Amino acid sequence: MKKGILFVITGPSGAGKTTLLKSLTKEYPELSFSVSYTTRPIRKGEQNGKDYWFVSEEEFNKKMKDGDFLEYAQVHGYYYGTSAFCVSEELEHANLLLDIDVQGAVNVKHLIPDSTVCFIAPPGYDELVSRLTKRGTESEADLKKRLDDAIHELKEIEKFDYLIINDNAKHAYEQLKLVYAAEKLRVSRCKAEIEAFKNIDKRNGGV
Ligand code: 5GP
Repeated sequence: MKKGILFVITGPSGAGKTTLLKSLTKEYPELSFSVSYTTRPIRKGEQNGKDYWFVSEEEFNKKMKDGDFLEYAQVHGYYYGTSAFCVSEELEHANLLLDIDVQGAVNVKHLIPDSTVCFIAPPGYDELVSRLTKRGTESEADLKKRLDDAIHELKEIEKFDYLIINDNAKHAYEQLKLVYAAEKLRVSRCKAEIEAFKNIDKRNGGV
């Protein structure tokens, strides 16, 4: 069976990752979304088990000690982690999408070099400030933390595979689809097809 693609979306908070990935999983049913664990409080409109698994710090620490996470990080003051079990199970039969922060993406790329990491950046820092402020989902302190973190995160782009500048949601989504399409065509991911071509001479009685 063909092993799935681990497709990672990363970038600073407010760059538009969530909107892009929701469109992508809707359009491509073969791409499942890995629901992370977090200690962050649930926001209005979010669902436990769909957006995140919302857990206490105690539960998170236990999972960390039990080695349940492929990667985890403290992001903007809360813990977030990707389930190792979910990743290995899903990749057996599907492509899997991760929405993780920049430190997490660096770790995943190191652990699974075959993964594809796409960095979503805002068109500029002022635009990021404006988007996050307008979004209004964070307290003033959380907002400041996210903006400070973004300065460091934007310096890590060269560690990844693709850069999409999200200056226009529709355009950025088209670019993301191109990246996903290109990744599916990588020679290293087409082993079965290549084997079939290699076997043509056997079927024809040898050349
Ligand atoms: P938010 O609280 O806005 O949903 O997410 C904050 C940040 O945490 C985002 O950059 C998001 O990509 C990241 N994040 C979500 N899940 C994970 C995860 O499992 N691991 C890591 N490292 N970051 C995550």
